[in-house]
Amino acid sequence: MPRPRHRRIMTVANQKGGVGKTTSTVNIAAALAMHGIRVLVIDLDPQGNASTALGVEHRVGTPSVYEVLLGEIRLSEAAAQSTSSPNLFCVPATIDLAGAEIELVTMVARENRLKQALSDQALDEVGVDYVFIDCPPSLGLLTVNALVAAAEVLIPIQCEYYALEGLGQLLSNIELVRSHLNTSLDVSTILLTMYDGRTKLADQVTNEVRSHFGPTVLRTVIPRSVKVSEAPGFGQTVLGYDPGSRGSMSYVDAAREIAERGAAHEPPRRRDGR
Ligand code: ADP
Ligand code: MG
Repeated sequence: MPRPRHRRIMTVANQKGGVGKTTSTVNIAAALAMHGIRVLVIDLDPQGNASTALGVEHRVGTPSVYEVLLGEIRLSEAAAQSTSSPNLFCVPATIDLAGAEIELVTMVARENRLKQALSDQALDEVGVDYVFIDCPPSLGLLTVNALVAAAEVLIPIQCEYYALEGLGQLLSNIELVRSHLNTSLDVSTILLTMYDGRTKLADQVTNEVRSHFGPTVLRTVIPRSVKVSEAPGFGQTVLGYDPGSRGSMSYVDAAREIAERGAAHEPPRRRDGR
């Protein structure tokens, strides 16, 4: 898998819960890491599911993204090595982060806290080529911080009923962030998840998303697979849990597509050409 020409920071966002944000974050990150690329996952969901799946401690008291946002500790002090790969690091989320959504409101530069923490210098210290930010299922200040800190957005879309519901709101929020806070933000990647080939509906959703978003949508589609959902229970990614499974292989394919795009050109151009 090719290394990116420049470090890539990707926010994985969709305010709907259960669409595969965390699953896609940890498995794409693990696939890149398996191929020798150094990756940092920022767990920005107080549930700490990404931390769990990466085998990283996230009990209260663990140095976490919360203290990083408050500016109390450096990024490198919170970045822990994942049990799944020596190239994979995670800044965990503890339940303390649940309060941050409210505490941030009165803070100076409240939308820029994560961006400040992800400075070139801070990321050089950890030494990573990719940063993935796993967002909570809301469009609050934590997600805004993630959108301000990144150059790219990856939107997972579940091949299910109501898949596109809420997408308009997400895109208009991204547009707001782009016009006011981060002009270089780009929805570079859409990933179709939990595809069930037995249902007609899955194909309908797939076709609709592809005709609407064109080449932004990865060719790889992630199938619905029990192995994918079992892996986090063992503190593992599906790549570690069952490397030969369809779920694991499709995440490797998705990661390769992302890596190839990053090596081929600057963050992919937006479709409207602006
Ligand atoms: P989000 O982070 O968007 O809330 P998750 O990644 O946690 O979503 O996924 C929601 C649930 O669906 C989890 O229980 C997860 O294990 C399961 N899941 C995600 N992707 C798949 C898949 N491809 N096949 C089966 N189950 C999946
Ligand atoms: Mg999640």
